[in-house]
Amino acid sequence: MRIIADMHTHSLVSGHAYSTLQENLRAAKARGLLFMATTEHGPAMPGAPHRYYFGNLRVLPREVDGVRLLKGVEANILNTSGELDLPDRYLQRLEYVAAGLHEEGMTPGTQEENTQAILAAIKNPYVDAIVHPGNPRFPIDFLQVLLAAAEAGVLVEINNSSLIGSRAGSSDRCREIAGLAAKHDVAVVLGSDAHWSGQVGQLDKAFAMALEAGIPAKNILNLDATRVEDFVEQRHQRKQATLS
Ligand SMILES: [Zn+2]
Ligand SMILES: [Zn+2]
Repeated sequence: MRIIADMHTHSLVSGHAYSTLQENLRAAKARGLLFMATTEHGPAMPGAPHRYYFGNLRVLPREVDGVRLLKGVEANILNTSGELDLPDRYLQRLEYVAAGLHEEGMTPGTQEENTQAILAAIKNPYVDAIVHPGNPRFPIDFLQVLLAAAEAGVLVEINNSSLIGSRAGSSDRCREIAGLAAKHDVAVVLGSDAHWSGQVGQLDKAFAMALEAGIPAKNILNLDATRVEDFVEQRHQRKQATLS
């Protein structure tokens, strides 16, 4: 059982990350990954790319030196209606849409408001995953979010970066989320949230937390190439169905 995908990475173009996309891909290859999702911050984050950046990701190859490059975004959830900072016509062209709460996108509200924002984002058919739900700046009702995500086929992230210094105070909350995911049979995704190439594929803490919580391998996206391909394909079908 090994990790073959990192579903959360940033490059220079996010504005506060330090490696190029190509450097990230090389690092992914060196770590033996078969999939890397490129998920730059959405336009609401200062220094993040314009929406055209996401619209033009299709010029990139499907695969680079044996690493399948999934074209994605880490979109900002903007309000309790679940509005994102990229319009649907951009989201629908992407292969992987991660969405999360950041203070640059939405001022933290009450637990009820934050939960409402995430639940509304989960209802967006273009959203594939909810990232760093354990962020203590945005308290949420974990169980409600997990059950809604599972029902919609949306993944809940265990963010490795949250366990090694980002978003201080996340660890206990992430452990709680992992425990609930195990108990309620909810699928999770591991993300490094790399902001430089040395962090690409660095998922050891998140992986250990998932296993310790008792999340079965079948519910961890990152462990199987077919599972990643099937997930992307199945979500693609759902997005197409929404369009027609
Ligand atoms: Zn960032
Ligand atoms: Zn984030």
